[in-house]
Amino acid sequence: MDQQPLNLLKSLDYSVVQQCMHCGLCLPTCPTYVETGRERNSPRGRIALMRSIADDTLPLDRAFAEEMDYCVGCLACTTACPAGVDYAHLLETARAASEQEDLLSSPMRSFYRWVGMSVLMKNPRLMRWAARAIAITQKPAIRSFIYKSGLIWLAPKTLRDLEPKSPIMDPPFSDSRIELCEKINANAIKKVAVLTGCVQDISYARVNRATVDVLVAAGCEVITPRNQSCCGSLHAHNGEIDQARELAIRMLDVFHEEGPHPLSSFDAIISNAGGCGSHLRHYGRLLKDDSKYASIAKVWDSKLRDAQEFLHELLTASQIAFKSPADPLNVTYDASCHLIHGQKVVNQPIDLIKQIPSIEFTPLAESDWCCGAAGVYAITQPDQAQKLLDRKLEHLRATKADVLATANPGCMHHLALACKEDAQLQSLRIVHPMELLAEHLA
Ligand code: SF4
Ligand code: SF4
Repeated sequence: MDQQPLNLLKSLDYSVVQQCMHCGLCLPTCPTYVETGRERNSPRGRIALMRSIADDTLPLDRAFAEEMDYCVGCLACTTACPAGVDYAHLLETARAASEQEDLLSSPMRSFYRWVGMSVLMKNPRLMRWAARAIAITQKPAIRSFIYKSGLIWLAPKTLRDLEPKSPIMDPPFSDSRIELCEKINANAIKKVAVLTGCVQDISYARVNRATVDVLVAAGCEVITPRNQSCCGSLHAHNGEIDQARELAIRMLDVFHEEGPHPLSSFDAIISNAGGCGSHLRHYGRLLKDDSKYASIAKVWDSKLRDAQEFLHELLTASQIAFKSPADPLNVTYDASCHLIHGQKVVNQPIDLIKQIPSIEFTPLAESDWCCGAAGVYAITQPDQAQKLLDRKLEHLRATKADVLATANPGCMHHLALACKEDAQLQSLRIVHPMELLAEHLA
């Protein structure tokens, strides 16, 4: 049963809204507050707005929806907060309330949200077919013909503007690169399932391949269920909670006890995308009122691990070994916001990179600061996203690194595009930490 928008903020456990004690420790970590210095653009200010709406002392209006949209959703405030305010849950609820009231609605916005979130992301086969078709148009000769012949002008303006920034499709996708079951021998130390994602699958299936390579080398039996669909993270982060529930249920059905991959048979369910993992860990809360799925969702949450977090836990039990790079290699690391702040996976990726012998590791200043990718933020808030990106690029130049490792497809793509245009960073290679590890398996 759909709830009315006002009830969504009111239906929050009031203790969550009240938890903020107004100390302000989160303010210096908040990119939008640092940019404007305005209280309403801070976590504390936004929570106060949510509370006022829950209390009926402010209307749920367009100004509120725009403020929630301006929030990067980086969750840096949750790391700084001594009171443990669950800002991620508050923001998701506030955005869902805004969406239910259609407060930011425009025909174009509704159309692109419908195509992206309701059509493509909910139909994995269709999404992969579309990605294959786009991959053809992205081949350099064909892309050049499309521009030189003027065919590009047949596309709507928004698509023309987005085309140069769209992710590169990279077939074959995960199901063609990874076997259903992979292991070195019968004596696997752990049995895990790998989630292939949606954007990750069509643009970065090589990262999924690398993840499986490293887990197998670490002694795991790895199951990669076929034709997986989106986990619903983009839907939840953008106020489409009902669709996020639908996709969560679809994901849980893949691991049904009577199916070929029962959840109880796995030691861990592995995600390698920071933004997805942060959402995937909270299926229990998302489905808490679902009589059929509430309990399995809790078990799911207890088994969900980030790939690097899990590998780090395995290191002492595992025989995994790495070899030196052929040439000297200076590596730096940028934390995905939802990995470091959402999942609290902080040092594990760096520890793992340092396992590669002879590698030079150069810390990146403000690596816990958002790069501006933030899901669709670079599209919805381009000015603020660009400021974050400029700040990141400045720190990246200072590292003089050969390789930047970061663990989220959105960040990888956003930074790769920007580095390509930057004279000092053109040769910087951007990889997922699991790719770097896979390349240096002994
Ligand atoms: S999620 Fe990021 S941008 Fe939003 S309030 Fe928290 S720190 Fe600020
Ligand atoms: S740090 Fe936490 S308790 Fe303090 S103002 Fe920010 S959200 Fe509220």
